[in-house]
Amino acid sequence: MEVRIIGDPILRKRAKKVVEFNSKLKEIINDMFSTMYLYDGVGLAAPQVGISLRFFIMDSREDNDKGKKIVINPEINEFLGENVLYEEGCLSIPDIFENIERPEGIKVRYQDIDGNFIEEELHGYQARIFQHEFDHLEGILFTDKLPIIKKTMVKKDLIKLIEKGKKRALELGDV
Ligand SMILES: [Zn+2]
Repeated sequence: MEVRIIGDPILRKRAKKVVEFNSKLKEIINDMFSTMYLYDGVGLAAPQVGISLRFFIMDSREDNDKGKKIVINPEINEFLGENVLYEEGCLSIPDIFENIERPEGIKVRYQDIDGNFIEEELHGYQARIFQHEFDHLEGILFTDKLPIIKKTMVKKDLIKLIEKGKKRALELGDV
């Protein structure tokens, strides 16, 4: 699987709801896990691999695969706790890492691979990854959340990446 880079228009689209929980979806998700681990990521959203649907995978790398999730049609229903700063990166924005402010916890609802509904309260690193990946489904990238001063500092690097991402999008086409 090819990871789409900022500048690729698919990363800016609002993804559509998943309605079919079939074997093709399972196959795609398996491929996404391989891709995520290959690049040493902790989360990967469908639009990042050229699929404009509302799902993502994550693995906060905890014992017993506790932080490993397949998240389909997610909703964030409540934000909990204080806003906290934490360094984020993104496989679609290589080599840029910045502190981003987000709520510490969230209450979420989503579907698993078989379409069953799951309600959970997440905190810390899991809540962080979930919010970052959820944003991908809305066409939002973490660099959008940088304060103006920080944004100016990474602007040159972003412009270069965006040019690369646009070119790559033309080569890859639509899925
Ligand atoms: Zn990302």
